[in-house]
Amino acid sequence: MGGHVVPIVVQKEGSREFELNEEALMSVLHRPEVRDTALCVVSIAGAFRKGKSFFMNCLLKYCMNKGSPDWLGEQLQPIGGFVWRAGMERETTGISIWSEPFLFTKSTGEKVAVILMDTQGTFDLETSAQESTFIFALTLLASSVTVYNLMNQIQEDDLMNLQTFSSYGVLAQENSHGTRSFQKLIFLVRDWSHSFEHDFGHEEGKNVLEKVLKVKEEQEPGKQRLRQGLRQSFEELECYLMPHIGTSALRDRNFKGHLEQLAPLFVEHLKLLVPRLLAPENLVVKRSCVTLGMPATADELVELFRTFIKFFND
Ligand code: GDP
Ligand code: MG
Repeated sequence: MGGHVVPIVVQKEGSREFELNEEALMSVLHRPEVRDTALCVVSIAGAFRKGKSFFMNCLLKYCMNKGSPDWLGEQLQPIGGFVWRAGMERETTGISIWSEPFLFTKSTGEKVAVILMDTQGTFDLETSAQESTFIFALTLLASSVTVYNLMNQIQEDDLMNLQTFSSYGVLAQENSHGTRSFQKLIFLVRDWSHSFEHDFGHEEGKNVLEKVLKVKEEQEPGKQRLRQGLRQSFEELECYLMPHIGTSALRDRNFKGHLEQLAPLFVEHLKLLVPRLLAPENLVVKRSCVTLGMPATADELVELFRTFIKFFND
């Protein structure tokens, strides 16, 4: 199966303004097989050069192979996948999605179309704080599952940034009906550096997150409010502690994603984590903000992008 990356939100040349590539977005969302199907929008956001696009390619691989037991295959990079590259230069700006939605069927018979979304421009050297906030907030609003990609551990800064992004997103949302503003967020900690205390994976991730988000009496009021606010903004918060990718992948300038170059433990956890997100039973359907209890329609999603970009540019 083919497909390619479609930039949908881009920054205009020499300007602070963002532009919606509406035609491109529609060409993905208005496909006949997707139009009236529930959507699951899975996105990733976080600092640059931290393996976001690399991880999206793993999700892409799972989708392309329809979640078959050997979905990972021998090599990760599908032809023309989300770009990742060794070195320092930026690859994409703004928000991109994969041109093909992927249809999955739950055991109830419900069909869900998965849209994969990659982002670039949170805290990179060339992006201002305001632009980072815009990209991240829009990502949160548009997704049903956001992967918050972090390095080594969850720090106070990471929580504060998340609060800034989510508050901005809430501000732009008029009719939230008193429901939680965002759906699922996963703290994905890459190169988890405290595995002696907490082992890799989901279970210990949950414990670490509990610890990090715990409101304690001796905490400053600001830190308490931050934690309460985050819990209230998201329907579901999860955490996954990922092992290091392996040095052989990082040393090889021409690394093309051959599995034998990745640390076996990393591969093991990829095989656990990716189905946690994408196995049909685990897909989180993007909820409508307009009609309570209903899935968001493709038109609604397009409108959301349109409104939010206007909100930012004005
Ligand atoms: P992005 O800017 O966040 O999208 O990062 P990329 O996916 O382009 O990857 C940047 C670099 O990080 C590449 O050289 C990857 O091989 C490397 N990388 C990918 N995953 C990991 C990881 O889990 N840990 C580390 N340390 N590096 C990674
Ligand atoms: Mg990238």
